[in-house]
Amino acid sequence: MNKKSSVRLASHIFPTKYQITVKPDLEAFIFEGEETIDLILQKPSKNITLHSKELEIESAEIFNASLRERKKGIWAGKMSYNTKAETATLAFSKFLPKGKSQLKLIFKGVLNDKMRGFYRSSYTHQGHEKHLATTQFEATDARRAFPCFDEPAQKAVFEVSLIIPEFQSAISNTLPTEIKEHSGGYKIVKFAPTPKMSTYLLAMIVGDFEFVESIAKSHGKKTTVRVYTTPGKKHQAKFALNCSIKFLEFFNQYFSIPYPLNTLDLIAIPDFAHGAMENWGAITYRETALLIDEEHSAAANKQQVALTIAHELAHQWFGNLVTMEWWTHLWLNEGFASYIEYLAVDNLFPKWDIWTQFAYGDMGYALTLDAFKNTHPIEVEVGNPEEIGEIFDAISYSKGASVIRMLAAYLGERKFRDGLRFYLKKYSYKNAATKHLWMALEKISGKPVAKIMRNWVSRPGYPVLKIVDDGKKLKIFQSRFYSSAVSKKQSKDKTIWEVPITSRDSNYHQPTTTLSRPSATLPQRGREGRQWLKINSNETGFYRVAYGPKMLESLAEPIKNKKLSSIERWGIIRDAFALAEAGEIPTSDALGLAGKYQKEDDYTVWVELVSGLDAIAQLIYKEKIYGEFKKFALNTFAGILSNTNWTINAKDAHTKALLRSLILNAAGRFGDAAAIKIAKQKFKHLLSTGKHIHPDLRSAVYNTVAENGGEDEFKKLHFLHNQANLQEEQRRLARAMANFKSKNEIVKYLKFVLSRHVRAQDAPLFLAVSLANPNARDLTWKFIKQNWNILLQRYGHGGHLLSRVIQPLWHYSTEEKAKEIEKFFRTHPAPGCQRTIAQILEKIRSNEAWLRRDLRNIENFLHGA
Ligand SMILES: [Zn+2]
Repeated sequence: MNKKSSVRLASHIFPTKYQITVKPDLEAFIFEGEETIDLILQKPSKNITLHSKELEIESAEIFNASLRERKKGIWAGKMSYNTKAETATLAFSKFLPKGKSQLKLIFKGVLNDKMRGFYRSSYTHQGHEKHLATTQFEATDARRAFPCFDEPAQKAVFEVSLIIPEFQSAISNTLPTEIKEHSGGYKIVKFAPTPKMSTYLLAMIVGDFEFVESIAKSHGKKTTVRVYTTPGKKHQAKFALNCSIKFLEFFNQYFSIPYPLNTLDLIAIPDFAHGAMENWGAITYRETALLIDEEHSAAANKQQVALTIAHELAHQWFGNLVTMEWWTHLWLNEGFASYIEYLAVDNLFPKWDIWTQFAYGDMGYALTLDAFKNTHPIEVEVGNPEEIGEIFDAISYSKGASVIRMLAAYLGERKFRDGLRFYLKKYSYKNAATKHLWMALEKISGKPVAKIMRNWVSRPGYPVLKIVDDGKKLKIFQSRFYSSAVSKKQSKDKTIWEVPITSRDSNYHQPTTTLSRPSATLPQRGREGRQWLKINSNETGFYRVAYGPKMLESLAEPIKNKKLSSIERWGIIRDAFALAEAGEIPTSDALGLAGKYQKEDDYTVWVELVSGLDAIAQLIYKEKIYGEFKKFALNTFAGILSNTNWTINAKDAHTKALLRSLILNAAGRFGDAAAIKIAKQKFKHLLSTGKHIHPDLRSAVYNTVAENGGEDEFKKLHFLHNQANLQEEQRRLARAMANFKSKNEIVKYLKFVLSRHVRAQDAPLFLAVSLANPNARDLTWKFIKQNWNILLQRYGHGGHLLSRVIQPLWHYSTEEKAKEIEKFFRTHPAPGCQRTIAQILEKIRSNEAWLRRDLRNIENFLHGA
């Protein structure tokens, strides 16, 4: 047994049913519970080991008809804990026989404030502080709420009963079947048995709630859909309710398997570590990921809410009905849900142009993270909870989604869907591994799916295709792409991917081929009279393309006259910026190409242009040429900025609203005098009249005011923050406050972030935004180091929040800083952050090389431009 497999429980004992009764105490913040687990022993055993973490098991008894020593066949076991393995072992004096047994446990635990396991969340209602109890079990925290066989393949039926105060509500995965009085002002709510499912999908929620509801009817089935909020917020639940009903109908049809439960609840939780959690039938959300206030919510938030709801609903099939066999296959759940959420949103909101946005939001981010030497394969061996927690990252979600999209494009949407239907049907209420999905898709499509997908899933990184046109032939070479020139130099990776190559030119869509060798000659149709050639049509392939200088130049024309689609225009500039960072082309080439986008009006393309220019601004902000660079950036925005105004028209397209916010934000950040003036006026008007700014303009106003403000503006933003009731608005204001340039405000901000005015779920993001602000970076890093113990206490239990705090350290660009950071983390524990720390160091060293290589080049470009 190696280190990885040794954390698995013994496979000869497994549960079939849990009857659990839990009584949370929302004043003392503890809970008491008892459970009876129906077990099957495949061979006689003297011990039973199951997961239990931070629980006190008060008694353990086993019932078995064939145990003769006592009349009823009850035996008590002796208990021992293994805190490292997070298990409890019950030792019996004689062998328990093969076959069925029942294990009865009585236990108690703490209703913690760590946003995991069974935890408490707080909110204010009518001036009073209130609490609710809720659960977050994925990946390995069901064991914090009740002793259990806490592995995804140990599926069982759950019968939950919650003992709660008379006037409160209880929510679990199914509907209540019985509510009875209980002593002392309590009642006992008994829920219907769940389908056979994994422990991490169980939910138990207790508190004061209100809800809106509706019935979804499709496939001859009725499902009661409810959206729950804390008191006073149910008017913000309507958008979510409408989306849920539509998405449920969409997925029923798409998967061709009706949603198996008769209830679907979506619950907004005030404190929540992730975005949302797909508990079967009782999906929990962060408030910002579920609630929309028509008066105060921005278009961008609406979109995020729709995507998140679609994502979690997709899991009800992909994840809940068919579950990964072990966390190594987590990407199957997450990559798939991250892909299909766009399909559902595109279906409901066809005008949102959501697939183009997939490009930046998921694919672009995955291409960035997977360009590190310190990345990991999509499918990675994991064992202990810390390792498991670390893979809930953009590689599992976004690279996973991107390679699935590439595969769907290769197989054709219909064959892909039919393969999924076959897979879901075959493995319903069971577990599956990656190979089972490939087998299903192969069976339906007749194509060698496993062979094509092997290295995309099992190897780290992805290829860059170098295109060489010698006038007669078009040659293509593949090699692993590194964003760091330093990493590339050290690399010995010779991985060859099966690359589906699509291309089109000014005359034809070229035939699709697969590149399965280091290099090949590309078959071409009618090259005579060709003006340009674009590889990777529609950007469905997960790779970058490095054209020769002439070929790249020839693409300027179809970019300008939009002969290329928006997603293709996006792909070209995305790769150009990345190749410049990697040292494959001079930065001046990427900047020159950016200048060709002056007539661009697509939102996603502009997100890329702005972020590419931001990255270079980060690199050179301490250099003399920074001022000139900002002018160049504003010049690049000039065309779109002149077409962007501050007046909202109700008929504006969704993407226009997004574009407006992006461009006005960028204009303020790069110092456009007119934008700064208007933002300040709007802010003043808001404060003097109390009249709301349109939600789509708020982030531009708040950010610009902070970037160009001082003590007075800080005070006012702070005041607005403390007054806001909607979490989306609080977050917008608090984020903006990270943008001040003066030391006093930065210091005040950092204190504020760790104060009681900011929820623990949000502080990591705000620290990260502050760390990304070049003017605040040194102070923020110092603050993080000084408060490391507090951060550890809050976020050091695993998960992604701690690594999120430190990630923007990678904007530094000197070896000296790299050494300092390395030294700090050598002496300070940072659980779950090892990969992020390695990436930070890799990027800092890459930045240093980039700056040394291209500072003069950028300077010459700016002077010549
Ligand atoms: Zn998910």
